[in-house]
Amino acid sequence: MRMLLIGPPGAGKGTQAVRVADRYGIPAISTGDIFRANVTQGTPLGLQAKDYMDRGAYVPDDLTNALVLDRLAQSDAGAGFLLDGFPRTLAQVYTLDECLEASDGGLDVVVQLVAEQDEVVQRLLKRARDQGRSDDTEDVIRRRLEVYQEQTHPLVAVYAERGVLVSVDAIGEVGHVTERIFSALGGRVQRADAE
Ligand code: ADP
Repeated sequence: MRMLLIGPPGAGKGTQAVRVADRYGIPAISTGDIFRANVTQGTPLGLQAKDYMDRGAYVPDDLTNALVLDRLAQSDAGAGFLLDGFPRTLAQVYTLDECLEASDGGLDVVVQLVAEQDEVVQRLLKRARDQGRSDDTEDVIRRRLEVYQEQTHPLVAVYAERGVLVSVDAIGEVGHVTERIFSALGGRVQRADAE
């Protein structure tokens, strides 16, 4: 089972990705987390990614694509995965398509987390106070939302056209949103423990 969670910064992708991946017994692969781990460890990739991230810009596709292809080739992703934060550009969609065609087909389901701009800005400002993430300052948050609208939101239509999109309201308690995702997925994919 191959899934993608898509939505603006602050919609709760990371939080929900862990819960959904756990339920379906697949790894959650978050490009943001992988980049942040590389920044913390001071790897060459981290050094390259940090400037982009701190400005609220996307890390260039060539770096990001290489990172994800490498991660998807690991054995735990063989039976499926949940992507969080990739693809974020059309070029990344095509890279993922090529990679998945080599196995047997594309994503099974794309879950869009829907949240209004005002709500996500409030959440990100709160996260800034709680966690001090270096890209959660107000200016950078606004930039990230603009970049999302320009470069990533159009992907929702691409996946809708392919018939794999489900949209879920991301406003409300974390557990409620998780339940909405499970019921949206219910008819489309089999749970690991039901097989
Ligand atoms: P959020 O969605 O809350 O902004 P993420 O943790 O998903 O945060 O990503 C943080 C940053 O990591 C992004 O602003 C971007 O710089 C970089 N990044 C993550 N995924 C990608 C991607 N697929 N392509 C390019 N850059 C990415």
